[in-house]
Amino acid sequence: YIREIARKASAPAITADGYRIGVDANIEMLEDVVFAKDSGAEGIGLFRSEFAFMNREKFPTEEELYQDYRQLAELMAPHAVTIRTLDVGSEKLSPWFSVPDEPNPALGLRSVRLCMRYPQVLKMQLRAILRAGAGYGNVRVMFPMVSGVGELRILKKMVHETMAELSREGFDFDDKIKIGIMIEVPSAVAVADLLAGEVDFFSIGTNDLIQYTLAVDRQNEYVAYLYESLHPGLLRMIKSTVDAAREAGIPVSLCGEMAGEPFYVPILLGLGLDCLSMNPQSIPRVKNLIRMARMSDCYAFVEEILKKKTAREINSRLQEFVANLF
Ligand code: PEP
Ligand code: MG
Repeated sequence: YIREIARKASAPAITADGYRIGVDANIEMLEDVVFAKDSGAEGIGLFRSEFAFMNREKFPTEEELYQDYRQLAELMAPHAVTIRTLDVGSEKLSPWFSVPDEPNPALGLRSVRLCMRYPQVLKMQLRAILRAGAGYGNVRVMFPMVSGVGELRILKKMVHETMAELSREGFDFDDKIKIGIMIEVPSAVAVADLLAGEVDFFSIGTNDLIQYTLAVDRQNEYVAYLYESLHPGLLRMIKSTVDAAREAGIPVSLCGEMAGEPFYVPILLGLGLDCLSMNPQSIPRVKNLIRMARMSDCYAFVEEILKKKTAREINSRLQEFVANLF
């Protein structure tokens, strides 16, 4: 049975009633791309670019980033590679940025906020991303932690300024690069309809979205029992994000850890996600579950569980549903 799952890892994930679901990989370093491809990834849904700023002895140069991104794009071509801009701060520490001692780092100077404080770093990274998109493959840029349209517009303006700079300097770059955002802050869900009109794609980051929606620190063991992926509040957030994306006609994926858990597949399909992006080792098992499920059953199932009141009730219904698939 396990051998069968592994054998079919590189085949597409099509539900029993014929719907294709994209399955991408989340990776942290260029080297991970080999394992991601071998595991059956159809693209890189999340390249956590901050790792190049966390583990190295030297601060990376534009040229180094460009070489990495370009190779990544080449290795994955014709599939898309989604490079998330620097997402340091809070639990992701980097020796290169002096972040003040903050009482609430998860609510503080992290991610795109930190990038705005060091705009020259974000610009340098955007130059590398835009250059890597020229001719080698299909590169997309994704901003994390966006909380609303005002912030998004500042970031998009930086992309356009960077393009103008590159073109003045005579560099090749992708002037039609797809720009997307992570949906991982509750206010972004509340204004998802407004954001959807201004980006090319959404990717839901449930790791942070659970933390901020349920007000539960994702790393605090004392409240870990409240960190519930099946909390009705979270499922409604995902639903309204997907609805907003549908309405605007943009694709929406989910790249939090939830996506790599086969158990959640029926709910994620029923919520209408186009694509799931996960750690590479989960890909064969998640694809296997997608193939066993019928989309029409998943829709009906989600309609039913969205009426349930607790994560516990949802969890026990989901167990029955999944058991019936086998
Ligand atoms: C997330 O928040 O769900 C996510 C995918 O990003 P990270 O875990 O890197 O914060
Ligand atoms: Mg996150």
